[in-house]
Amino acid sequence: MKKEKNAPQCSFCGRLRDETQMLIAGIDAHICEVCTEQAYDIVKSELTGKKRQVVKTASI
Ligand SMILES: [Zn+2]
Repeated sequence: MKKEKNAPQCSFCGRLRDETQMLIAGIDAHICEVCTEQAYDIVKSELTGKKRQVVKTASI
């Protein structure tokens, strides 16, 4: 019996595809729209050097 490949889910927060509005596929991982926004915030703050704060994913 062959199942579909593992159901895609966000590799950062673990949300399943059905729980996200968007799931972006990488080579060996996926990321959802929530995590991309958080990642973008991290990149912004790192690049501007204003605040260096750790933003945890799945902190809901
Ligand atoms: Zn996510």
